[in-house]
Amino acid sequence: MTRIGFIGLGHMGLPMARHLLAAGHHLAVHDAVAAKAASLTDDRARTATSVAEATRDAEIVITMLPEGRHVQEVYTTSDGVIANAPRGCLLIDCSTIDVETARAVSVAAAGAGRGLDMLDAPVSGGVSGAEGAALTFMVGGSETAFARARPVLASMGKRIVHAGAAGAGQAAKICNNLILGVSMIAVGEAFQLADRLGLARDKLFEVSAHASGQCWALTSYCPVPGPVPASPANRNYQPGFTSRMMRKDLKLAVAAARATGAVAPLSGEACHLYDLFCRSGGADLDFSAIIKLFGREIDA
Ligand code: NAD
Repeated sequence: MTRIGFIGLGHMGLPMARHLLAAGHHLAVHDAVAAKAASLTDDRARTATSVAEATRDAEIVITMLPEGRHVQEVYTTSDGVIANAPRGCLLIDCSTIDVETARAVSVAAAGAGRGLDMLDAPVSGGVSGAEGAALTFMVGGSETAFARARPVLASMGKRIVHAGAAGAGQAAKICNNLILGVSMIAVGEAFQLADRLGLARDKLFEVSAHASGQCWALTSYCPVPGPVPASPANRNYQPGFTSRMMRKDLKLAVAAARATGAVAPLSGEACHLYDLFCRSGGADLDFSAIIKLFGREIDA
């Protein structure tokens, strides 16, 4: 069994760490909020009071942090992961962050000269996917590091895709969430128009779930209560995946498009709408609650 340092025990990290324990691994866990790390009570889980302490004895370090700046800090400061990881340690960052930071941290790990290997391995599947060990991992980095990480990732996920070199996992994640953010807005717009046209919501669902408008945002995560019992719309849009997180991911898409010269007008518009929704009180609601925006006057 493997000695794993796990840093970032939030909505996603905590259930992921639980699956690693269930698979028989030994964990040293750390979170900036000490109570979160301490909530993981298990004989094989040791609470570490610093990033360095979580890292020092690890064969593998896994991080699940909010944004690129947190990843940069946790990996590259003098008491961070790279400075303290033992020779040959495998570093896996599962946070969703910008491609540039992912590549920079990977270069810093390689530059340490102690055989540290780094993967970016963001996930799709949300909190329910993390709880059910059903995440999809999109992985960027070397073939060797991927082969080494695969069995560990397999205890937290169902689908593990090697997307390419360092940063490719983040690129896949950003592109996927661009599709999701834009399609959720389209589905919300369609339900609002159906209301105005006097078309019953369940009839629109019955038609589009089996017609060319079919998409995940409609059939698995329907933004109106009723048609999909498990969707957050049936529990007052409690997350799930917050609108704040979707805004963050769409910002990453817009920034990546700008940096590469890609034409991405709908990413920009979707980002603007999520920003508007977040600033008008929706930030901590599930991202499917964006449909509420269409019940109001939009000052766009
Ligand atoms: P979260 O805010 O619940 O958890 C992040 C944790 O990191 C927090 O517990 C925080 O205290 C800790 N942290 C922050 N800075 C730290 C530091 N310097 N040292 C140690 N710990 C630190 O976020 P989450 O929902 O678990 O998401 C984590 C990542 O996964 C994000 O990048 C998010 O975009 C991505 N993601 C989330 C979901 C989702 O549904 N929540 C789905 C897919 C991907």
